[in-house]
Amino acid sequence: MFPLRTLVIATTMSLVAFYTQAAVNTAGADLGSNPFYAASTLPFQAPPFDKISDGDYQPAIEEGMRQHLAEIEKIANNPAAPTFENTFVAMEKSGAMLNRVMAAFDTVTGANTDDTLQKIQEQEAPRLSAHRDAISFNDKLFHRIETVYNQRDTLKLDPESKRLVEVVYRDFVHAGAKLSDADKAKLKALNKEESTLSTAFTNKLLAATKAAALVVDDKSKLAGLSDAELAAATAAAKDRKLDGEYVLTLQNTTQQPELQDLNDRATREALFKASWNRAEQGDANDTRKTIERLAQIRAEQARLLGFKNYAAWKLDDQMAKTPETAIAFMQRLVPAATARAETEAKDIQAVIDQQHGGFKVAPWDWNFYAEQVRKAKYDLDENQIKPYFELNNVLENGVFYAANQLYGLTFKERHDIPVWQPDVRVFEVFDQDGSSLALFYCDYFKRDNKNGGAWMDNLVTQSKLLGTKPVIYNVGNFSKPAAGQPALLSFDDVITMFHEFGHALHGIFADEQYPTLSGTNTARDFVEFPSQFNEHWATNPKVFAHYAKHYKTGAPMPQPLVDKMKKAGKFNSGYNMTELVSAALLDMNWHTLPASAPLQDADAFEAAALKKDKTDLSYVPPRYRSSYFQHIWGNGYAAGYYAYLWTEMLADDAFVAFKDHGGMTRANGDRFRKMVLSRGNTEDLATMYRNWRGQEPQIEPMLENRGLKDAPAAK
Ligand SMILES: [Zn+2]
Repeated sequence: MFPLRTLVIATTMSLVAFYTQAAVNTAGADLGSNPFYAASTLPFQAPPFDKISDGDYQPAIEEGMRQHLAEIEKIANNPAAPTFENTFVAMEKSGAMLNRVMAAFDTVTGANTDDTLQKIQEQEAPRLSAHRDAISFNDKLFHRIETVYNQRDTLKLDPESKRLVEVVYRDFVHAGAKLSDADKAKLKALNKEESTLSTAFTNKLLAATKAAALVVDDKSKLAGLSDAELAAATAAAKDRKLDGEYVLTLQNTTQQPELQDLNDRATREALFKASWNRAEQGDANDTRKTIERLAQIRAEQARLLGFKNYAAWKLDDQMAKTPETAIAFMQRLVPAATARAETEAKDIQAVIDQQHGGFKVAPWDWNFYAEQVRKAKYDLDENQIKPYFELNNVLENGVFYAANQLYGLTFKERHDIPVWQPDVRVFEVFDQDGSSLALFYCDYFKRDNKNGGAWMDNLVTQSKLLGTKPVIYNVGNFSKPAAGQPALLSFDDVITMFHEFGHALHGIFADEQYPTLSGTNTARDFVEFPSQFNEHWATNPKVFAHYAKHYKTGAPMPQPLVDKMKKAGKFNSGYNMTELVSAALLDMNWHTLPASAPLQDADAFEAAALKKDKTDLSYVPPRYRSSYFQHIWGNGYAAGYYAYLWTEMLADDAFVAFKDHGGMTRANGDRFRKMVLSRGNTEDLATMYRNWRGQEPQIEPMLENRGLKDAPAAK
């Protein structure tokens, strides 16, 4: 997962009626000795982590907000007529101290947190949100922005400057800056209710998920579970003071990991139903009324802002631009995905019949029998392949090597740059001509005080205006070996490294004037494109042969093992794609409701939507049901879940473009860098892609990579 950056000029929709003056008293703090007070003097303005202590963050955030707001007020109240320079450029230069401290703060709270930092985070989150609102709703500031915007065609602005005017203006308009005072008040009230309900949804779901865990009193009903799963079930029971029993806790998706192992069909059914109905118990944690109202509020917000529905509003600044485009794209995936899932269901039914099961495959049977099919068809043991993926070898001879072959980059480790934790490594990145381009940090090992998953972010955002070069980091959660032992990765981990480094390249190649448009500061349905594209090089034969070598002997991976690995990658692809596209379409159905629609009944709405979209296969439920779809009701991915699929289409299509022009060549790499990776958000993203590709993105490469191309045609 890649966290979208929190821009100081935010497009946040959680509006607060008034700006709350910071409640923390920083008067006593000695800001002169605060390491964030002045720009870092280290190379690349890298944060001086050796001089930063936990106590430095809060006073710097508070002072950073104060300075930023003073700068904004000065711009808004400038007696001179509004110009691009005195408004837009001045805004781009503002907030320097806040940006400095927040970049470091986001890094440590994500990758190396502690109680103190968490407390600061809780205290500062609402203040930072109010700070952004104070800027978004500054009428004088918006008046200046609008004046310049209206003159943009006659100001002789260069293309990037004109794009900045359009992007910033649109962000303000999308947040409601153009509304009448009466409508602003209405929007603020709706925003407040939305934010309250969204938090309520998250809290209810958390409680509901915990309460819905399956309690089993008889160990024989758990036959098939691994020792580790049994130990976890015993520990979970102990936690709940249910000694002697077993508790299977739920994860956020519909399917649960234990369903793959449980021999007893009744237990499987009980576990599945516990998951499916977790938030629909008719009790205080039932989320249905909350989401029904949320859908209605969002439709009303969109109507106030002049959009026909919430999705139209949210996609207006995305690459897809309209919900119709995103929906049409997904509808093209449905026939191939469901046809493949039907074929997979036949394989599974054959195993059930062979074992005289005497039943038709249900969702709670899928993973149990799919695992048997998988073992029979592609038996692949992780422990056979891991010795070929030693972390440092993968990084330097795989990830860096691919970047060298494609873009001419070279890397040199630096030991003089301070880091936030001793396992973090720093590399200086050099361009093809030997000039210094960026700093790249990597923090790959799992720690108790690190968020799960993997991500990329900037410590310093590139900007020619500010004279800054990119300082980028990747974070992972790979198992740390014992001292002196090699770190051996799974192939999933290898793919993750290439993925996150794809984001890193998007940041490293940034060549923008303005920080707002720089590097990965693009749309959600574009930002995962460079990362998914970079994944492809992990399996490129030349790259693979260069890094997949046995850590002891240096021998290359034997070809039969390589073939097995490739084949196993397409297993269960029909099921996987169907559950994903089904959830993504469900998201769009909820968020294309017009404001005139009556309050929906969540279950009836969901059933009708699945049926209409032809994703209602009895044995493939959506990856998330509406009542526990945290991404769209709680996490800000409303009308955005499609973006994962959309960017996968771009990545696969782009890789075909490379193949068609000779594959991994410097010419291909340089052209891609020049026209896409270095461009940030400096032009319309669909135009950027089309100019580079020479045509619209095609869906066929994605279907082929997913193993869906040979699926029977739609009925
Ligand atoms: Zn990503």
